[in-house]
Amino acid sequence: MDERVFNFSAGPAVLPVPVLEQIRDEMLCLPGAGASIMEISHRGGPFTEIIHSAEANLRKLLDISDDYAVLFLQGGSRLQFSMVPINLLGEGQSADYILTGSWGKKAMEEAQKEGQTRVAYTAKGSGFDHVPEQGDLDLDPQAAYCHYTCNETIEGVQFNGEPDTGGVPLVCDASSDFLHRKLDISRYGMVYACAQKNAGPSGVTIVIMRKDLAERSDANLPSYLSYANHIKEESLGNTPPTFAIYVVDLVTKWLLNDIGGLDKMFEQNKTKALKLYDVIDAHSDLYKGHAQPSSRSVMNVTFNLPSDELTSKFLGEAKKHKLEALKGHRSVGGIRASIYNAMPVEGVDALASFMKEFAKNA
Ligand code: PMP
Repeated sequence: MDERVFNFSAGPAVLPVPVLEQIRDEMLCLPGAGASIMEISHRGGPFTEIIHSAEANLRKLLDISDDYAVLFLQGGSRLQFSMVPINLLGEGQSADYILTGSWGKKAMEEAQKEGQTRVAYTAKGSGFDHVPEQGDLDLDPQAAYCHYTCNETIEGVQFNGEPDTGGVPLVCDASSDFLHRKLDISRYGMVYACAQKNAGPSGVTIVIMRKDLAERSDANLPSYLSYANHIKEESLGNTPPTFAIYVVDLVTKWLLNDIGGLDKMFEQNKTKALKLYDVIDAHSDLYKGHAQPSSRSVMNVTFNLPSDELTSKFLGEAKKHKLEALKGHRSVGGIRASIYNAMPVEGVDALASFMKEFAKNA
């Protein structure tokens, strides 16, 4: 336990310690199962209970109605980049993409392989440093769907509400801020998120989808690529990632029982983020925040130092304080502190103190 660092990794990322402890305690034998979670059938009683519980927890946390299916899929969010257009973008239709960072851009590039896309907004011109206002969007009222990335993990920019797409189904890549606050699911056609940032380990991607949208899935699709098939099979069309779903169940229980729900989680997340942005603003000669203030992410805090040399020094000294995985994404450099739900406030305090100290001596 003493060896655990404050882990600011963007994903796979920090998990709640009580969850890790429970996994450790149940590693050899899941209560009532006679074997570990990794050794039991996905069709038997104990796992059925786990997958039902994970779904029920998600439904409770996000107040998801029966009009929506909750799926546990594989292939990461990247597969969703393709499955979304494969299922939802019909012949002769076009899909809108709102581009506020690298992941949204990748999502659109994958969709272009499947059909026609259109850019409803791009923040590329300013280095993906902000999200648009509603009035900035150029939306196609006929679009098959409109896709956006509510939190761009690499650039650290985040929407604090949903774009209004009228009658066009809104599809959201929520990979890096899923469960950081409550969402009004009824505003979405679909939300997807790989688990390895805020909801569990890598290996499972959660899809919340309006059931009527899945009716668009072509009956001739390969079955793994069809949402309609996954809904029919209740995520058990093939062997699901049982261990990852088990951890999602534990994380969602932690959110419900230890944290007290997503409103409380959001309060904690805002408090943690503010601590770091306050230091950035107080030392703006040294720390240059990447995101414009109104678009700052409460999950991924990104900033640059004036030189590569200072960046390396910052990372090296941070390591000595057990502050790890702060290097920005290889495509943009600089520093990125990912402060997901499970990052304890002590970790953020330790980073904020270190940043102040470093600024004094720089
Ligand atoms: N979208 C976003 C916003 C992400 O942060 C990531 C992962 N960093 C992905 C998509 C891709 O997820 P995966 O690696 O699970 O395919």
